Amino acid sequence: MLDNLSNRFSKIIKTMRGQARLTEENTAEMLREVRMALLEADVALPVVREFVANIKEKSLGEEVISSLTPGQALVGIVHSELVNLIGGEYDARAVELNLATTPPAIILMAGLQGAGKTTTVGKLAKRLVEQKKKVMTVSCDVYRPAAIEQLKSVTGQAGAEFFPSTPDQKPLDIAAAALDYARKHYIDVLLVDTAGRLGIDEAMMNEISALHAQLKPIETLFVVDAMAGQDAVNTAKAFNDALPLTGVVLTKLDGDSRGGAALSVRHVTGKPIKFVGMSEKIGGLEPFHPDRMAQRILGMGDIVSLVEEAHKNVDMEQAHALAKKIKSGKSFDLNDFKEQLAQMKKMGGVATLMDKLPSQMTQGAANMDMDKAEQQLRRTEGIINSMTPLERAKPDLIKASRKRRIAQGAGLHVQEVNKMLKQYEQMRDMMKKFQGGGMGKMMKMMGG
Ligand code: GDP
Repeated sequence: MLDNLSNRFSKIIKTMRGQARLTEENTAEMLREVRMALLEADVALPVVREFVANIKEKSLGEEVISSLTPGQALVGIVHSELVNLIGGEYDARAVELNLATTPPAIILMAGLQGAGKTTTVGKLAKRLVEQKKKVMTVSCDVYRPAAIEQLKSVTGQAGAEFFPSTPDQKPLDIAAAALDYARKHYIDVLLVDTAGRLGIDEAMMNEISALHAQLKPIETLFVVDAMAGQDAVNTAKAFNDALPLTGVVLTKLDGDSRGGAALSVRHVTGKPIKFVGMSEKIGGLEPFHPDRMAQRILGMGDIVSLVEEAHKNVDMEQAHALAKKIKSGKSFDLNDFKEQLAQMKKMGGVATLMDKLPSQMTQGAANMDMDKAEQQLRRTEGIINSMTPLERAKPDLIKASRKRRIAQGAGLHVQEVNKMLKQYEQMRDMMKKFQGGGMGKMMKMMGG
């Protein structure tokens, strides 16, 4: 799903990764690409405008940390803006159905024909049955006899109770009878399926508004097909104007969706996306996590939290001083090496870092033994700790007798000291080449 958008973003990020820093020029170019990617994905124009403006503001204001490339910093910005756009931080209370009312808690489904209302009723019924609720469903779709049969079938699969209705009844009468039955039989949750049309039409809106007025549901969920593109935005607007929606269910996210609906619908309605449909099957419903969705769109590993960690833990002053030193062409000594190791430890150690980096950066390290790498890291630190400040500043001074003393101090063999010095030399040479930006490469080497 959302493959195109993902690919576009990956390309943008890759380009930005090659840049030494975010400048006004490369940021403008990047913003143009982001704008095109979103428009191509059918995101509504006002949403695109606001999104791009927010990224622009943040990118130009952003101090790019020396240990991260502009590409990484950018992912952080785009990701957090995406999360904001589609719902902000995950809040289980906002996403889970609100059932806090005198039973039955009524859930009214709204949406166009084919959006996935009936399927979603089945999925919600299953979830609620699993939560040990007494659930009943009813169909007020008197226009398509098949719709009532379909609801009966999915309700059976969910293990919930089905309240029968027939096409010759009026929707309001069906609703009243179902509610009466539910009250008398101590039903916890009554799920009400409604008729949709192929497009927005007044009769449909009047009907669902009347159902809403009569039933006073605690949840009114707007069901929308993620593949609907720009139309989804207009539909969402119309339903949101006609009904006090409490949430959105985005269906068919498993399909070949361009993602526009997913990105626009929250902005347009101001209502939380509560669930996403991930398959036709009755189990294919998931609570909506804006952060995970944003990550999927960006097609990255959990690099976002890496960026956050870096902001939180890394001593910015030290990081900047080191970057400056490397850039100035001064050689990278063992004090710097030690500093790098310490920073890495603060960021959660080798394994955590590897987990969070996108796969392109850690190729070749897939088979790396993390425990061994951590152990190696500790040894290296022990060796550097046994050196005098002069030795750290001028590693060339370290000859045989000093090596023996250092090895003894660290409780290791001289070979270990030799190995570590070799690693340091390799890193020093690499630092010269990469001038500060080679975090990923540095780690690959540490594991080798
Ligand atoms: P309604 O007219 O709004 O009640 O829509 P339906 O529930 O009948 O769904 C229309 C079609 O979409 C059916 O073929 C469903 O199987 C399919 N559908 C619904 N939700 C999903 C979903 O999350 N993923 C996929 N792949 N198909 C879905």
